[in-house]
Amino acid sequence: MRQEDLCCARDMQIIIQKFGGTSVRNRENRLKAVAKVIQAKKSGYSPVVVVSAMGRLGEPYATDSLIAAMKEQIGGEMNAREQDMVMSCGETLSAAVMASMLEAQGYAARALTGGQAGLYTDERFGSANVEHPQPERLRALLAEGIIPVVAGFQGVTRDAEITTLGRGGSDTTAAVLGVMLRAEMTEIYTDVDGIMTADPAILPEARVLSGVSYSEVFQMADNGAKVIHPKAVEISMRGNIPLVIRNTFNDKPGTRITNDQQNGLDVLVSVAHDANRAQIVAEMERPGEEAEVLRRLADEQISIDLINIFPQKLLFTIDQRLLPKARAVLEAMQVRHSVRADCCKISAIGSAMHGVPGVTARILQALARSGVSVLQSADSHMTICCLIDASQTALAVRALHGEFHLERAQ
Ligand code: ADP
Ligand code: MG
Repeated sequence: MRQEDLCCARDMQIIIQKFGGTSVRNRENRLKAVAKVIQAKKSGYSPVVVVSAMGRLGEPYATDSLIAAMKEQIGGEMNAREQDMVMSCGETLSAAVMASMLEAQGYAARALTGGQAGLYTDERFGSANVEHPQPERLRALLAEGIIPVVAGFQGVTRDAEITTLGRGGSDTTAAVLGVMLRAEMTEIYTDVDGIMTADPAILPEARVLSGVSYSEVFQMADNGAKVIHPKAVEISMRGNIPLVIRNTFNDKPGTRITNDQQNGLDVLVSVAHDANRAQIVAEMERPGEEAEVLRRLADEQISIDLINIFPQKLLFTIDQRLLPKARAVLEAMQVRHSVRADCCKISAIGSAMHGVPGVTARILQALARSGVSVLQSADSHMTICCLIDASQTALAVRALHGEFHLERAQ
């Protein structure tokens, strides 16, 4: 490529457009996604498209379906390297399909694997981190007016090994590309109108937030709001690239996530929930045992939260699916413990709560009025978390949403 083309490529208004599983699950939905790309192109942007695999578990080309089908073929487990080769296929297929659909509508497009798009990662199969991404190939395509369609969720090591980036990895791909290409914004297209005051799947009256800060969305995502992956928020925040969450299926403006505080004096912006937690209460019999337990769990890649330490007791919660692994660690250490499964962590989030007296009291009162008992709690400067029984999730989310009037317009 000539030097002047490269300069021109740098002045382009690049926009990243990521489409999630439901947006690409069938032809009808993909046509809506294609229309969003064409709309961006017509508005003068140079779009870079990122796609997830087509559909969710149960649908033939979804990642979980591919894994299940291959395991059945093997009649057992696969090692991490081979599993990543299989897991990367869903997005690869999806990228080829989307690029072909753009071509069919008269737009030059090119499907790329994560590696072909310059996403070099470390060697942690299943949860790789992108290191030193290389923008040259994407820039060259953009300079030629071609729309790159990048397979999300995957990368490649320096030794050409295929890796995947972990759950929510396509969001991460989009965020990394946004920073790498200094995009105007990274758009995340999904099946809801934006970031909402609670998960609309359990609270229909939840409201769309027009603007919210990176750190608040990070707290929401980190505490179970699966609308965006926390890593994608963190990457966009560090690169200072605006993140916009929008609905593939309508033309609403969505939610703009930047550093600006846009929620005035509202104490809370959102209530998040993570309904897949288990609480462990371990008995500590000698000094220093807590640290040893926490270290051994970390060695097994079990992340824990809501940690409370008492003189002879250690309380914490983990992802329920990791329970067998965690119990094995504790049993090997001969630590006496009890487990309470089927818990939910409810998190009230808002940067304006910092220094406001009485927020915790209001939360506890609202939960008590609804008959929800709190098993454990923790707080940080913009988040207050309560652990409750999972069967009371909807009740608790509704109680906090109502107490802080989150259904009211901003
Ligand atoms: P995609 O397949 O497009 O990545 P996801 O299923 O990962 O979509 O994320 C979208 C879903 O996130 C929504 O359908 C919604 O149920 C859920 N969600 C949870 N919390 C929130 C929230 N605070 N705002 C919006 N959506 C949320
Ligand atoms: Mg998602």
